[in-house]
Amino acid sequence: MAMDKQWYQSLAEAGIELEMLTTGTCMQLLTEKSVELLPLLDAAFKVREHFHGREVTVHIINNVSNGLCSEDCNYCPQSKSSSAEIVAYTEKSEEEIITEANQAYEAGAHRYCMVYAGRRPSRERTERIARLVKTIKAHYPIEVCVSAGIMDEVSTRLLKEAGLDRLNHNLNTSAERYGRICTTHSFTDRLNTLKAARRTGLEVCSGIIAGMGESAEELIDLAMLLRELEAKSIPINFLLPIKGNRLGEPQNLSPEYCLKILCLFRFLNPQAEIRIAAGREYHLRSLEAMSLYPANSLFMDGYLNTKGKSRRDTLQMIIDAGFTIKSDKSAEELLLHEGEDIVEYTSTTPGLKSDADLHPARQNGLS
Ligand code: SF4
Repeated sequence: MAMDKQWYQSLAEAGIELEMLTTGTCMQLLTEKSVELLPLLDAAFKVREHFHGREVTVHIINNVSNGLCSEDCNYCPQSKSSSAEIVAYTEKSEEEIITEANQAYEAGAHRYCMVYAGRRPSRERTERIARLVKTIKAHYPIEVCVSAGIMDEVSTRLLKEAGLDRLNHNLNTSAERYGRICTTHSFTDRLNTLKAARRTGLEVCSGIIAGMGESAEELIDLAMLLRELEAKSIPINFLLPIKGNRLGEPQNLSPEYCLKILCLFRFLNPQAEIRIAAGREYHLRSLEAMSLYPANSLFMDGYLNTKGKSRRDTLQMIIDAGFTIKSDKSAEELLLHEGEDIVEYTSTTPGLKSDADLHPARQNGLS
């Protein structure tokens, strides 16, 4: 039997009022065939519109270092368990990173994100990142985000004191499943990093990778946990199949289910930036534009080592669907320049984007 209008309406009202949904309601949303996609998207859109309007924040992701990782995250081509061919390179110079921050600022970016591969940054690297953050913040009125692996409170405090605004570290999957996707570090390591960041007053960005065999309950628990952590930004990745990775084929990811996952995260995290990350094009297929109803952010230009659709096509999709792009530039200007002056900017690696199909795991740039 189909759910009545009131059921969908109550989801929207709960989201707008910041009320928590019960696990039972979340299970219905994700698993019951009687839940119809269009009224569900409409309810999620009401929440999205209330907190974020029709604006879409566009992020371009890239990394400061790539590969050579000691960890065995089985979804990641940089992991020691993967035989995927990737282009590994060491850390960029401080000069190069600061120059890129300058370019980002000049291009109108409001956030500059530095992404490092690896398990955890050494004290030396942490101090180097802190120096970079301090320099960038002293010169440019720009938000700075860092993604650098596992960190303790001493490290997160150092970054906070240097002026860092936000730390990115993904939970990726549930505590129960974590041991099946990675043995070199634990879910608790990841959670503790986020808690350390919160204790030192940093905002956190943390997301998931759906399609790794997780159950509906596990997704719900993750969405609820991210609410508890007050994550400001939640990238939702959909696992991409990558030759050479231990975790091969994604599981149970129809376009409809992907959209329901985005709706779930919107209802449970109404004020967060819900970002459609890797797998947008691959898994949502012809329903891709519908993802903008629950989500208010996306990655453009691919996902570190995997290609996405072109800037022009992504921008055009946003405009065609009736949304606006968060930028000082007009949509026409952005289209004209194929998005060169878009709002979010991260350290770029010349040449990397042409190396398609290399890196699904750090799809959203997080170690
Ligand atoms: S996800 Fe990060 S920590 Fe895990 S293998 Fe890839 S680069 Fe290393």
